[in-house]
Amino acid sequence: MARHHEVVIIGGGNAGVSLAARLKRYGIKDIALIEPKEHHLYQPLFSHIAGGRALVKEAVRSQESVTPKGVAWIKDRAMDVDAKSNSVALASGSTVTYEHLVVCPGLQYHWDAVPGLAASVHSPYGASHYEFELAPKLWTLLSSMTSGTVIFTMPPGPVKCAGASQKPMYLACDYWREQGVLESIRVVMVQPYPTVFGIPEVDRELDRNIAEYGIELRTNSELVAVDAADRVATIRNNKDNSSEELRYDVLNAVPPQSAPDWLKTTDLPAPGDHHGFVEVDTRTLRHSRYPNVWSLGDAAGTANSKAGGALRKQTKVLAKNLLSARKGEALSAKYNGYSVCPFTVSRRTVVFAEFDANYQPMPTIPKVPTWKESRLSWWVDRDMFPQVYWHLILKGRA
Ligand SMILES: Cc1cc2nc3c(=O)[nH]c(=O)nc-3n(C[C@H](O)[C@H](O)[C@H](O)COP(=O)(O)OP(=O)(O)OC[C@H]3O[C@@H](n4cnc5c(N)ncnc54)[C@H](O)[C@@H]3O)c2cc1C
Repeated sequence: MARHHEVVIIGGGNAGVSLAARLKRYGIKDIALIEPKEHHLYQPLFSHIAGGRALVKEAVRSQESVTPKGVAWIKDRAMDVDAKSNSVALASGSTVTYEHLVVCPGLQYHWDAVPGLAASVHSPYGASHYEFELAPKLWTLLSSMTSGTVIFTMPPGPVKCAGASQKPMYLACDYWREQGVLESIRVVMVQPYPTVFGIPEVDRELDRNIAEYGIELRTNSELVAVDAADRVATIRNNKDNSSEELRYDVLNAVPPQSAPDWLKTTDLPAPGDHHGFVEVDTRTLRHSRYPNVWSLGDAAGTANSKAGGALRKQTKVLAKNLLSARKGEALSAKYNGYSVCPFTVSRRTVVFAEFDANYQPMPTIPKVPTWKESRLSWWVDRDMFPQVYWHLILKGRA
């Protein structure tokens, strides 16, 4: 069985739904969204749930409720794309053909890439706020600690919202400080890069908080093995090739990530890109070899740091360019590499990093140092953004 749509979008997450809504607003009538899951998640709130500052129910809606009216929801999983014959093969065995295809299935987590990692996050002493189901578990573990060692890790390679690995850590430290137990808790943060984030202005703000909380920062380092039974994490320093074994009471690990495995086997990634991201012109978001294929969001082969704030800009660019392509016009909209990471450095303040693909500051309001820790940024991230997401972004209006 084959069905045909003018625009087919693979993935009904942040990118897919907001793009479908925007294309609908721009007048495209025949759009189909392929998305296998029943529930749509607002992932930035996972960090707040894991740090005791949001409820689980705030981050989830039914997929049906967020799918724009008039957009066909194909509740299925894409398994393959044949860009030469304009068709997508689905897990159910059927096929969808298209005039334009947008590929945005997000990232895949590789729990097996680190020995013992999967077992440890599902053990009574481990969690990962990168999984919706495990985010509340992290807060249960952290909020009941009064002493001991807790380790937070971030993997090398592509990750969603690079700084999100740190957010529950600061929220917990602030909570422990309020409870008077911070001094009895050893906090270790494992980071693959030479500094805590990579932008001097932002690093200064984060380093100040790290010093105040007494966090031990391991730079140039990564988690390479976990013994879940004995609660021992092996951390390798990639600069001096040393390793240390740390016994923990709580481990919060962010898994290694890449584009989905099925995407890697298609013709869409650039040859040799082992992460499997869709090969696009990083400014127009059009595929480099297939002019009716597009990509945005976490699965796109763009140079920016992967984040919802980045794809919000990409959505407008891609929608405008797809419209131009339909009319045979030149593509005039250009994505500038903008990305964002709000660091929740306390239970009331945020360091709001906005930057370009070269990690140079790119504040929305020019000359305003939004990276300075502030209460206003907390309000924007915690209270305003979720509302903007559900009511404007997913409706193609922001
Ligand atoms: C813990 C955490 C904190 C974050 N914090 C922030 C933040 O503070 N600020 C920020 O801007 N960003 C943040 N992000 C990143 C942001 O959530 C992502 O960048 C954004 O969701 C990417 O959107 P996407 O549509 O590309 O992918 P997703 O939103 O992940 O959606 C991908 C969709 O594709 C579907 N899919 C997968 N495979 C298939 C298939 N084969 N066929 C069909 N559909 C498929 C999935 O089910 C999913 O619904 C955070 C992410 C996490 C995990």
